[in-house]
Amino acid sequence: MRAEDIDGRLIASTTLTAVAERADQFRHRTGSAPCLATVLVGDDPASHTYVRMKANRCDATGIDSRRIALPDETSTSELVDTVRGLSEDPRVHGILLQHPVPAHIDERAAFEAIAPHKDVDGVTYATFAAMAMAREGFHSCTPGGILRLLDAYDVPLSGRRAVVIGRSPILGLPMGMLLLARDATVTYCHSKTADLGEAVAASDLVVAAVGKPELIKGSWIKPGAVVIDAGYNPGNVGDVEYEVARERARLITPVPGGVGPMTIATLLDQTVDAAFHQLDDQTESVKRS
Ligand code: NAP
Repeated sequence: MRAEDIDGRLIASTTLTAVAERADQFRHRTGSAPCLATVLVGDDPASHTYVRMKANRCDATGIDSRRIALPDETSTSELVDTVRGLSEDPRVHGILLQHPVPAHIDERAAFEAIAPHKDVDGVTYATFAAMAMAREGFHSCTPGGILRLLDAYDVPLSGRRAVVIGRSPILGLPMGMLLLARDATVTYCHSKTADLGEAVAASDLVVAAVGKPELIKGSWIKPGAVVIDAGYNPGNVGDVEYEVARERARLITPVPGGVGPMTIATLLDQTVDAAFHQLDDQTESVKRS
């Protein structure tokens, strides 16, 4: 069997077309566009690139982006105040605090200053708890994007064995929770896992989220499995040994062009969702008063 590539660029572009249509509807209803505020602290070049990419995508889909760049020496309380200000600003619908912040800042305190109804990047405890309890709410963007890819390719999840390799709070951990909420039988693997190959070989769905080039050997993949490679390593190399894995899998994400494009698409989709929810809440409170 030779796997079909999962075309993340195509699914992301379809998602962004729908985002642009809904952003336009929002503008017609309210006279202003949905707004995503991005907060960047310090001068890490990769973070600047990510924020610029997100702002460019906002422009292309008719979402306003408000970019806030703070100096490296910003204190935790200054950052918390900035984020709190955005949480309270009715013109801002979604907030993204670019990770990582400089080491002297308490990143968790800054994340928790994001109002949960504006947490379109899925980083607060409240959003995390909602995902864990399979409740309505925003998703962490990369796992949320992966779920959309799986749905776009009609990958059955209920009752299937899924392995998630990696347990970071932004990726592996919420990924497993979202799969569990869809009734998959989920195994987590991490740096202390003793039998990684065995766990992968037993799984119908493999999600690699580690950041180690070709850690997941192609020969481990169960024939007919679906392989999602979220890893991104220098030289456009994923966490999965792609060429060998594609000879055994049914579906596989290439790197690049698989998971990556869906992360931003999910962020913008959730920003428009947030804008509409906030509009509905305002309408409700006007009706009640
Ligand atoms: P991270 O915070 O460094 O977490 C890596 C995870 O991998 C940890 O849970 C770690 O286990 C586990 N791990 C490390 N070595 C392992 C091993 N030998 N066997 C099994 N598990 C191992 O990384 P992250 O932020 O989740 O990112 C992971 C990858 O995804 C990176 O390549 C990153 O660039 C990529 N990524 C892509 C996107 C996108 O939009 N495409 C977004 C975010 C991240 P412990 O918990 O035990 O340390």
